[in-house]
Amino acid sequence: MSDIRPRSLPAMKTRRIADLVAEVVSLIKQLRDGGAIGRMKAELAAKEAHIREQTAELAHSRKIFDRSSAAARIGVWECSLPSETLQWTDVVYDIFDLPRGSPLDRSEIVRYYSEDSSKELHMRRSKALEERSGFSMDAEIITPKGNRRWMRLTATVECEEGIPVRIFGMKQDITEQKILLDRTRYLAEFDIMTGLANRGQFQSRLSDLCKYQAGRTSPGALLLVDLDGFKKVNDSLGHAVGDECLKEAAHRLRDVCAGAEIVARIGGDEFAVFLGSHFDGNAIATLAREIVEALSRPIDYCGQSLKLGASVGIALTTDTGTPSELFKKADAALYAAKAAGRNTFQIFGPDHSTSAVTQALSPLI
Ligand code: GH3
Ligand code: MG
Repeated sequence: MSDIRPRSLPAMKTRRIADLVAEVVSLIKQLRDGGAIGRMKAELAAKEAHIREQTAELAHSRKIFDRSSAAARIGVWECSLPSETLQWTDVVYDIFDLPRGSPLDRSEIVRYYSEDSSKELHMRRSKALEERSGFSMDAEIITPKGNRRWMRLTATVECEEGIPVRIFGMKQDITEQKILLDRTRYLAEFDIMTGLANRGQFQSRLSDLCKYQAGRTSPGALLLVDLDGFKKVNDSLGHAVGDECLKEAAHRLRDVCAGAEIVARIGGDEFAVFLGSHFDGNAIATLAREIVEALSRPIDYCGQSLKLGASVGIALTTDTGTPSELFKKADAALYAAKAAGRNTFQIFGPDHSTSAVTQALSPLI
């Protein structure tokens, strides 16, 4: 027994030390592991914060997108192929006056396009699918509520392994721009008071018409019509009554000259009519007589009978080449009609001279 104790004590001590060492190692390991978990937890928390930040940013961007898309009236659309399943953002529903998120049937939707736009859409879409490309067009729709709208439509075909799987793009409501553009165009080309073509449109059409007439055997003709004694109406009854007379004269002229290429108001009480080559010499003279007759009929204004008249000067397109020469000749003939006592017409001929009017006309043509 006494032999065992002195040997077993160090052995026991050694074991205890080994146990302690193992415990410390385990503790260190746990501590180390605990650090890793802590780090991972911290990383996770940071990632969560980042995701929260990104979600907030995304929501903010989405809000900005929605707001700007609503302000610009631009929506996004997508059509899966071959099922033709449509998907729209809210703005597209709004453009079509359809409840947001309601089910969409493409064959129903295309019925809201005007006939011309529907044909154009079909043609452009088929071509884009065939060529795996895209297109853009302005289309007119009439919504289920009866609103007529214009939208700018863009489309891109998306393919997978060469097969179109989707066609998508944007639709923008451009109704207001379209109205403004049409109005601007109208103001640039038409006389607001009478609704006839204005001097600007007449000038550009005259050049085209003269080119077209060149080389044709049967003549076209330019008729210049000036009201007789119009100043008297203004002076005696006022400008407003004068305006009413101009409107009525324009109305009558348009009626009589229904077959003309263009009827324009080119100055105060001066109008121009261009007749194409389907009017022969006789038809031109007949029409000139009808114009004089129509404009000399009394105008009824608030129970008063107002008397006007008109003189007409005519130049045949076979006489001349350039629009400027044609205009000078018609004006010389008009001058001659005035000189012949008014309320009549004259066709430019060898007896007429253009020299007297050349100076006065140069700013117009
Ligand atoms: P003539 O028989 O020689 O053609 O003379 P006229 O009295 O018809 O007068 P003229 O053709 O020489 O001049 C046209 C007048 O038309 C001059 C101008 O005061 C008037 N006028 C021009 N523009 C307007 C307009 O927009 N409204 C009205 N009420 N008068 C206009
Ligand atoms: Mg006049």
